[in-house]
Amino acid sequence: MNSNKANTSIECTVNQCSYHCQSQDYCSLDKIKVGTHENNPTQNQCTDCESFQVKG
Ligand code: SF4
Repeated sequence: MNSNKANTSIECTVNQCSYHCQSQDYCSLDKIKVGTHENNPTQNQCTDCESFQVKG
């Protein structure tokens, strides 16, 4: 999806995601949802982009 419009409010380096802009390190969605897989998150590694979709 290289034609995706970069949302410069959402920087992202996960280029394995179908919403990533590829040529630029931005997400193309208007908004994303961030969550956690931890009971008590203490570091940024504890958080997840729950809008992630693997490139198909
Ligand atoms: S949906 Fe999440 S993981 Fe995917 S490009 Fe956007 S911010 Fe990155």
